[in-house]
Amino acid sequence: MRKDGNRAILFSVNAANSVYSSCFRFLNPIQAIVLSQFNGKRDLASIKEAIEYLLDLDAQTASNWVDALLALPVSREHTIGTFIIEASDIDVKSVRLYDPKVFIPDKDQSGSDGFRCKIPFKMIVLPTMRCYTRCRYCYADRNGFSGKEFDISLFKDLLKQAKDCGMETIDFSGGDIFCRSDAFELIECSLSMGMYPNIPTKYPLSRNQVEHLAEIGLSILQISIDALDPDIIDNLVAVSPGYGNKILQTLNYLREAGIKVRTNSVLTPYNIKDAINLAKYLGRQPHVFKSNFTCYGRSLYCHKDDLFCCPEDVLKFEEYFDKIKKEFPDKFFFSGLNGDPYKGNESERASVFSKRAMCTANKNGFIVLPDGRVTVCEELYFHESFIIGDLNKQSLMEIWNSPKALELAHPSQSSIPDGACKDCSDFSICHEGLGRCFRECLKAYGIHSPHWPDPRCPRAPIGNRMI
Ligand code: SF4
Ligand code: SF4
Repeated sequence: MRKDGNRAILFSVNAANSVYSSCFRFLNPIQAIVLSQFNGKRDLASIKEAIEYLLDLDAQTASNWVDALLALPVSREHTIGTFIIEASDIDVKSVRLYDPKVFIPDKDQSGSDGFRCKIPFKMIVLPTMRCYTRCRYCYADRNGFSGKEFDISLFKDLLKQAKDCGMETIDFSGGDIFCRSDAFELIECSLSMGMYPNIPTKYPLSRNQVEHLAEIGLSILQISIDALDPDIIDNLVAVSPGYGNKILQTLNYLREAGIKVRTNSVLTPYNIKDAINLAKYLGRQPHVFKSNFTCYGRSLYCHKDDLFCCPEDVLKFEEYFDKIKKEFPDKFFFSGLNGDPYKGNESERASVFSKRAMCTANKNGFIVLPDGRVTVCEELYFHESFIIGDLNKQSLMEIWNSPKALELAHPSQSSIPDGACKDCSDFSICHEGLGRCFRECLKAYGIHSPHWPDPRCPRAPIGNRMI
C-alpha cells in the first residue's frame, strides 16, 4: 500500500514475476489504516474489536465492515481477503509492515483525480529500439526510432525520482537492452539502487554473460521464445540460421547460473503446432517458473494478415495446452484468441464494451522512450499525440502533472475534430471512467486518427481487421 494524495492505493509491486494477475485498487484512509492492522500480531477477531472501538460501531457492524473490506476486489480473480495469510506460515520479519499514521490525509491535500493516481507507481523503460532479432510479428515502431538513446546519468536520475515515488520495480521493454553496450551497467545500477529490473530478451546470451548477470544479483530473466524446433524459431525471428539453437542454449546457461526464467511465446500459424512441444519442454525445466502464450495481435507497425492464427488451430492448441496446464497449474498461461471488436449487434457490442478492462494509460504509470521522452502506453511509442514530456528537460512529477498529461487524462470534447467521439453523449463517462484504448484505436483506424473511438465501442465503425 502507498499513500496517494488523500487516498491510498493497494497494488502489486512486481506483477510480472507473480503467478497472480496484477492487483490494484484505491482505498480510503480508514480502509488503509485497518489493513495496516493485519501485521501478524493481531488476529481477525481482535482487529474487528479494534474497529468497533476506533469507528465507534457495535460489534456486529464492525465485523460486517471488516468483512466487506476483505471482500473488495483487487483484480478479476482476487479480493483483498485472498491475500490475508497466516502469520505462522511465513517469516514475519520479511514482510512489509505499515504504520497506520502514514495514511492519515494531510490537511492541505487537494481532492482526488478520479481514477488517476497523484503519483505514478509503474514505469516501463525502453532503453533502445535496437534488437538482435527481426521478428515477423514485431509490434515495435522501429522505424520511428531516431537512434538517440538516453545515457546512464539520465537513467540514474530517473531511478532516483522513481524511488522517490515509491516504485520498486522497473519494467524494461524495447528493443533489447542487451543490444546496448552499457546493458550490464544499467541493470547493475537498477539493482544497486534497490529497484528490481524486469528484463525481457531474445538476445542469445553467452555463458559468461549469464554468469555476470548472476554475479550482479539478477535473479529472474524473461526469455521470449516461440518454438522448440530451432528451424521454426529461426524462420519466425528472421535472423541467421543457428539462432534457435543459441537461444535454447541460453536457457540452459540460465539454469546452470541459478537464474529463474519467465517465458513469453507469440503464436502464429508458423509455430502454433510446435508450441505444444515447447510447452512440454518448458514444463520439464525447473528454473522456468512462468510461461505465457499469446496469439499474434495486429501489429501497428509491421502487420501482415497471414500472422493471424486460425480459430481451428487455436482450439487444437488449447486442447493440448489444458492438459499441460493441469499438470502445472501455476506455470502456464494462455489468453486465448483475441476477440473481434466489431462482432455482434449494437446491444451485444455495448455489453462487451461496458465490461472492458480499465485503460491504465496515463493513470498509474508512464513509459520512457529511448530518447528520454515520455509516453502513456508502450505500443504508442513515438506518436506525438501521446508524448507527455521529456526527461531531458523536466522532472518525472513535472511530466506527470504537465498540461499535456492532464489534457490527455481529462480531454475536452470540443478538441475532437471528427469521428464518433466528437458528438458522443457518453464522452465524459467514457473518458473519465474505463477509458478508450488508444492502442486499439490506432490499430483499427490508423495512426492519423488517435481521437477516434475504441473499436469495441458500439458507436465505432468497422476499421482494419483485428483478428
Ligand atoms: S491504451 Fe489500451 S493497451 Fe494501453 S493501457 Fe490503455 S487499454 Fe491498455
Ligand atoms: S469511444 Fe465510444 S463511448 Fe467513448 S467517447 Fe468515443 S464514441 Fe463515445
